[in-house]
Order: sequence, then C-alpha cells, then structure tokens
Amino acid sequence: MAQDLPATRPIWEAAPEKRTPADWAFQWLWDQPEVAVTLSGMSTLEQVQQNIEAADKAKIGQLGASELGMFEKAKEAIEAKSPIPCTRCEYCMPCPNGVNIPRNLDLYNEVAMYEDIKGSRFVYNNFVGETERAANCIQCDECLEKCPQNIQISSWMPVIEDVLGKNQDFVPSL
Ligand code: SF4
Ligand code: SF4
Repeated sequence: MAQDLPATRPIWEAAPEKRTPADWAFQWLWDQPEVAVTLSGMSTLEQVQQNIEAADKAKIGQLGASELGMFEKAKEAIEAKSPIPCTRCEYCMPCPNGVNIPRNLDLYNEVAMYEDIKGSRFVYNNFVGETERAANCIQCDECLEKCPQNIQISSWMPVIEDVLGKNQDFVPSL
C-alpha cells in the first residue's frame, strides 16, 4: 500500500470524494493509458479487499480536471517538503568511490516527507551497503557537473552521514 504522506494529507481530506491515499494512487495509475498492470504488495486480507474495490472503480481517463489538479497540488507539496531537489535521474552515477548518491539523497528527503527520522536512520544503517553510504564520499566533486539540478552533492553527503549515521539534528537546507 502507498504510504500516507503528512504533507499531502490535507489535500486528500479536502477532496469531495473520500478515498485513502493508496486508492488515490491507484486511480491515478489506472487513469494512464500506458498502464496495463499495477503491482501492489499486500499483507492482509483487508488490503486485498481494498485493492479489489479500487480496481473495480478504475478506468482510463476517468479522473476529471479537479482531481488531476489535486495530484498537481500533492506533487508541489511533496517537492516543497523535500530539502534536496533530486529527481533520481542517476546522471551523477557511478560515483568513483561507490557512493549511491540518489539513494542517500532520497533517504534524507524521506526524513522530511514522512516526518520519520528513525525510519530513514534504520534504512541507512541496515539496508544501504557500507560503501554506498554518504560517509564514503571523498569530496572529489566528480558528480557535481553531471547533476542537472545543480545539487551540491559533496556538501550534502557529510550532512547526511551526520544526521542519519551519527544521529545529529536534521538540517533542512545547506
Ligand atoms: S563528491 Fe562524493 S559522491 Fe560525488 S563523486 Fe565524489 S565521492 Fe562520489
Ligand atoms: S544527477 Fe542530481 S538529480 Fe540526478 S540522481 Fe544525481 S543528484 Fe539526483
């Protein structure tokens, strides 16, 4: 199921039609003519039933202008909440020192998006390979000119290591 993002919650709550964030996510996917199949991890019978109900309601082109406008607002809310404007394009990769740049930036953005610093710290320390972590950035700056978003990657990496690896306070901007 899609995770509930605090930044987008007021948008879904204000919608005339009440749906869960996961249901809205599915409706958006099934509205696209390019999408033939959606894959969803389900761990309870209730989630299976919810997904079947969502699939029953779906069809291509069913979302109107006001509903599509809500998705635009949700996108803007998420972008406004993300401290680093990484699009995960991976043009900066590979890092010569093995750092997984987009993964680190993504985890850092998720601290703000989900308001869950513990979750990002847990993933960083347990599921990101040791050599892939921000701590291994050697400030060579090879990645800087490759980033179309002009992200100061080598400046963010020590911050990410401090916050996620060393439990220091969250820093919202450089
Ligand atoms: S500055 Fe850091 S993240 Fe960027 S290429 Fe060099 S070692 Fe990798
Ligand atoms: S090039 Fe920039 S925007 Fe693209 S993944 Fe790397 S850091 Fe993110």
